[in-house]
Amino acid sequence: MTTPRSVAIVGGGVIGLCCAYYLMQDGWQVTVVERGNRDHDACSLGNAGMIVPSHFVPLAAPGMVSYGLKAMLSPESPFYIRPRLNADLIRWGLLFCKTANAAHVDAAAPVLAAMNLASRASYENLAQTLKDGNFFGLTRRGLLMLCKDKTVLEHEATLIPRAKQLGMDAQLLNPEETAKADPAIQMDVAGSVYFPLDCHLNPSRFVQSLTAELERGGAKILWNSPVTGFSTDDGKIQCIHTTQEDVEAQEIVIAAGSWSAETVSALGLRMPMQAGKGYSITVDAPAQLPELCSILTEARVAVTPMGSTLRFAGTMEVTGLDLSINQRRVYGILKSIPQYFPAFQAQDFSSEPVWSGLRPCSPDGLPYIGRSARFSNLSIAAGHAMMGLSLAPITGRLISQVLANQKPEIDLSLLHPDRYA
Ligand SMILES: Cc1cc2nc3c(=O)[nH]c(=O)nc-3n(C[C@H](O)[C@H](O)[C@H](O)COP(=O)(O)OP(=O)(O)OC[C@H]3O[C@@H](n4cnc5c(N)ncnc54)[C@H](O)[C@@H]3O)c2cc1C
Repeated sequence: MTTPRSVAIVGGGVIGLCCAYYLMQDGWQVTVVERGNRDHDACSLGNAGMIVPSHFVPLAAPGMVSYGLKAMLSPESPFYIRPRLNADLIRWGLLFCKTANAAHVDAAAPVLAAMNLASRASYENLAQTLKDGNFFGLTRRGLLMLCKDKTVLEHEATLIPRAKQLGMDAQLLNPEETAKADPAIQMDVAGSVYFPLDCHLNPSRFVQSLTAELERGGAKILWNSPVTGFSTDDGKIQCIHTTQEDVEAQEIVIAAGSWSAETVSALGLRMPMQAGKGYSITVDAPAQLPELCSILTEARVAVTPMGSTLRFAGTMEVTGLDLSINQRRVYGILKSIPQYFPAFQAQDFSSEPVWSGLRPCSPDGLPYIGRSARFSNLSIAAGHAMMGLSLAPITGRLISQVLANQKPEIDLSLLHPDRYA
């Protein structure tokens, strides 16, 4: 009998847990090191729960820099960067500006589309194979990009041919067709683009199911164990130090979300990353409950039915590793809802708690996935920005293929963790 190979994963968000799940399936002895407790919060829990093959345009795209500069002038806008003299932020900003071009979007789109489609298939599979089944509520009804403005709708529609080229259907719908697509909610829009392959689910239930599956399968999850440092020798990481115990494993995967950059900096690896703060508000008894998830395009607000509740999520504030809630920007989200859904009023949400989470954002809008040359047993799975839930299963599969020294099912060259090292 051969001894199982051992792997330690830093971070128990959806990315770390999916890496752990696929590595466990592959026969690895898995330890997850998580600084929070079993009920800890993370970006992976309160997000909008969308699985989005439609999102094949990375954040670093033409028009984003001028959009960002304009948006920063309004305290209620969905985008904000707190200007500060911070070398990491300045470097990240310069790299973002350099990458936000058409050539980058052309190169990144097929990779993002392939990853999202593969992840969608994995979610379908997980809904069948996890012991809890589809407890996490995978719903395959598609997504509506709702537009108030005709020009914005025309712009969204320009993505339809590219979506089709990349292997997914997309349809331009007029207001009547949009109303027919989701009769459960009254909408006041100029039209929409419908992406039938997009899905939604309940992210905290998914994290809960995956954690239970890992524990049942014999993986060890060390809760309340912040990583404090590493011992290295001979080009390898020998040991992870935590406040509880030291962890040794043959392979190490860093999946610490927005904290990944500071975690790997202790290993001498430079991986530019900024936290993109977002908020969500979940309404327990909504005035109306749509059947499809949607994006209020101009307002950049995501709307997701989760069981009998309805979640609204939005904003991207680059203000450091800071989870504090800016009520003006939350109001910006709430104010936009009645403009698209007239059955709602901004006051409907005044008593609902606001959740905040930090999206781990790389400067080119692509995740860091693969082995780093810095240490022979170090791999990274981080930086998934707005798509971490959507891309989690494929990331887990790719990491398990990398660690098994197999050719990954998706070309990882654009995602190399050392690309800015
Ligand atoms: C408002 C909002 C809406 C979103 N909607 C969607 C959506 O609809 N679809 C989608 O795909 N994505 C969405 N996202 C993005 C998605 O939530 C993230 O990309 C994803 O959760 C990132 O997962 P992660 O595991 O990398 O990070 P996290 O969930 O942040 O997990 C990282 C974990 O690492 C742990 N950790 C950090 N440092 C250490 C350390 N030193 N020692 C031990 N543990 C450590 C943390 O405690 C945490 O549990 C949204 C995000 C926001 C904010």
